[in-house]
Amino acid sequence: MSEPACLFCKIVSGEVPAKVVRETARTVAFRDINPQAPTHVLVIPREHHVHVGALAAADPELLAAVLGEAHEVAVDEGIAETGYRVVFNTGAQAGQTVFHVHAHVLGGRGLGWPPG
Ligand code: C5P
Repeated sequence: MSEPACLFCKIVSGEVPAKVVRETARTVAFRDINPQAPTHVLVIPREHHVHVGALAAADPELLAAVLGEAHEVAVDEGIAETGYRVVFNTGAQAGQTVFHVHAHVLGGRGLGWPPG
């Protein structure tokens, strides 16, 4: 299922361009347009789910696929051993701005804790 007004559904369909780095039958990974680290890739399911909680409830296997792809991105980018972070901003107060679930894969520099 897709949502006609959803930006990330438009990336899935190709209507909006993106620098895609990995694709599977169920997921797409592309570079964030406003990178916060040397590696900053977003992994999304092709299907529209608003956030990670909704995806976990609807299709846990698809959530596992998104997480598996996040790790494969880290391997491809050469940061799987040095360290990387996977973030799901969930809800407006946590900084979610696009309401199609996406895993941020961040790495390539030291990452502070706690995040802001
Ligand atoms: O977690 P949040 O919802 O804020 O993340 C959305 C992310 O989508 C941002 O990091 C933003 O830079 C990215 N983005 C993108 N391509 C777009 C629009 C937004 O990579 N066309």
